[in-house]
Amino acid sequence: MPFIVEHECPQCGAPVELEETNRLLRCPYCGVKNYLFAGDMFRFVLPDRAPGKEIIYVPYMRFKGNVFLCKNASIDHRVVDITRLGVPLSGIPLSLGFRPQAMKMKFVTHDMAGSILSSTLKSDDILDSAGAHTAAFVSKKFFHRAYIGEALSRIYLPLYMEGNKLFDAITNQFLVSLPADHDVLAPLMDKCPRWNVTFSPTICPNCGWDLDGEKDSVVLTCSNCDSAWQASDGRFAEVSFNVVPGSREGSLYLPFWKISAETKNEMGIRSYADFIRVTNQPKVVQKDWENRGMSYWIPAFKIRPRIYMHLSKQLTISQEKFETGDRVSRLNLYPVTLPHSEAVQSLKITLADSIMSKEKLFPHKKTLGYGRYL
Ligand SMILES: [Zn+2]
Ligand SMILES: [Zn+2]
Repeated sequence: MPFIVEHECPQCGAPVELEETNRLLRCPYCGVKNYLFAGDMFRFVLPDRAPGKEIIYVPYMRFKGNVFLCKNASIDHRVVDITRLGVPLSGIPLSLGFRPQAMKMKFVTHDMAGSILSSTLKSDDILDSAGAHTAAFVSKKFFHRAYIGEALSRIYLPLYMEGNKLFDAITNQFLVSLPADHDVLAPLMDKCPRWNVTFSPTICPNCGWDLDGEKDSVVLTCSNCDSAWQASDGRFAEVSFNVVPGSREGSLYLPFWKISAETKNEMGIRSYADFIRVTNQPKVVQKDWENRGMSYWIPAFKIRPRIYMHLSKQLTISQEKFETGDRVSRLNLYPVTLPHSEAVQSLKITLADSIMSKEKLFPHKKTLGYGRYL
């Protein structure tokens, strides 16, 4: 069940609801589309039910996504959905439990009343926790672990003080008595919380046309000037794209990230020919493959892990068959919902999954290190 966020339309002020992974907000009242930009991660608050109290917001980190594990002869995966308390304070709930599902969240805004505690938990820490969550299914040693996130966000739980007693501002239940002789919260206060969500009109930076996309799209397209734009660092950055023409009218076009990469270790995969040889594919290496840089084809949309792995592997192996045609507008495009940054996480797993006789290769390959990617 997705978490729901309530916000006001920046154009007309009407209350609109969106899911936590939605990036494109189309107001049902005035019809205006806006794209949400959030810096490193989205931040939400759970609204308090303690009117008149001075609220203290306590941070939690949340990760929802797939963890892939590369073991001896197989790739395993698990869906992980966890929240962790972001401050070293005892007596506070360690997890948010069902609260975010039971109520509508709001975005953190810089004009929000109350004070905010700084999170000492970082993105890497929550990924470590997600990894620890998968420890139960690791029976032997593994070579690599990858996290493909669907949601990585910070959620704030409202609390308030009465005397030296701390209360949950949603349930109004007593949580813990803090020491009366010194202020344990003061060192944790975020003195200048700068984070803010910003809304930008979905206007093509190239021609001014209205960009197309679905509510969870991370790449928007312009049907006027045939361009594609990825949300990056608070703005739309152009993404180059090609189309592999379908043989039928009315085909649905699925998006993939084509990521060029070469291994830096002794595997020595720089060209497509290297890849076919090292992974021992049943194909005869063609001469021109030696000059063809290696690229990995990773689904740019969210799909069940098993299918995600299957598509990554099959398209990467059979890429020599794809002729990329001219750009064609007005195609039936499936939305891009998996950012490039997440797709990059699955390069090593895709390579590992492509190796035909893993038992032979893995004991000698401690790492599957990658070099650059484009
Ligand atoms: Zn509106
Ligand atoms: Zn345009």
